[in-house]
Amino acid sequence: MNAPGLKILCREPLSLPPTGHAYPFGSRFDEQDAMCFFDDVLVPWERIFLLYDREAAVRLQAGGQWMGYSSTVRFHERLQTFIGVASLIAESIGVDGFREVRDKLGEMMAHAEMIRLAIEGMEAESFRTPGGLMSYGPGFAVGVYAAQVSRRVSEILREVGASGLLMQPSERDLAEPALRPAIDRYMHGAGWPADEKGRLMRLGWELGISAFGMRQELYEYWHRGDITRNRANLYLRYDRADLTQRLEALLAEPFPAADPP
Ligand SMILES: Cc1cc2nc3c(=O)[nH]c(=O)nc-3n(C[C@H](O)[C@H](O)[C@H](O)COP(=O)(O)OP(=O)(O)OC[C@H]3O[C@@H](n4cnc5c(N)ncnc54)[C@H](O)[C@@H]3O)c2cc1C
Repeated sequence: MNAPGLKILCREPLSLPPTGHAYPFGSRFDEQDAMCFFDDVLVPWERIFLLYDREAAVRLQAGGQWMGYSSTVRFHERLQTFIGVASLIAESIGVDGFREVRDKLGEMMAHAEMIRLAIEGMEAESFRTPGGLMSYGPGFAVGVYAAQVSRRVSEILREVGASGLLMQPSERDLAEPALRPAIDRYMHGAGWPADEKGRLMRLGWELGISAFGMRQELYEYWHRGDITRNRANLYLRYDRADLTQRLEALLAEPFPAADPP
């Protein structure tokens, strides 16, 4: 990393260390993004593992199933976190009985179930590669699906949490004797004390609104590459030979007459 000529530009951190308790996710899980500039940098031959070898690059890309699998497991954990936080928020503000709110939380759960079943499918379709290693089954379409639904999950959290996601006391406010009685009286939840509800909402704020949450949303949409390109590639690689052959055979002749009622 300190090779002459290599310069690294890091973006600013998304959680502020002095108030770390207020950034329970960001202070632990913020993944630094950086731009590397290679300005006449000498890379020694012993550090080069691939150059001008297209076939090896394609073989290496096939190992991407492992990346796809781990990314899907991570995404499933993310969805579980959203479900936990959003459903507890609904309970804490007493809106979990409304059909509309259950509908939204159910939608979130349907996405999580699709991803869980996709993980099981990738495991069930694992196979031995020509090189004798094990690989998971194809997960390319799962990546496309995940990118499509991720922001909807954040949106549901914002819809269910509403303004409470923003307007909550900080730990410093809770520790302020002049404020605390008013906070306890006017900001408690449905059976939830004001401090616990405030911390829960803070989790929701971090996931769905904060710079950390927005960075994660951007990440989910883009980190597998341009979704437009990925969907177009899915169209190209999807095996529809059997479908089209059967339809072409059907279309080659006039449709059979329907049986009389
Ligand atoms: C948080 C984060 C993490 C990431 N992690 C990874 C990673 O781990 N690995 C990795 O490989 N990449 C990663 N990426 C990069 C990602 O692959 C790129 O962001 C993505 O390929 C889009 O490139 P770009 O950001 O340069 O946008 P651009 O290519 O500038 O695109 C901007 C917009 O223009 C559209 N556009 C661009 N070209 C065309 C065209 N020819 N025709 C029509 N529309 C077009 C795009 O669809 C998009 O809407 C990450 C990105 C983010 C934000």
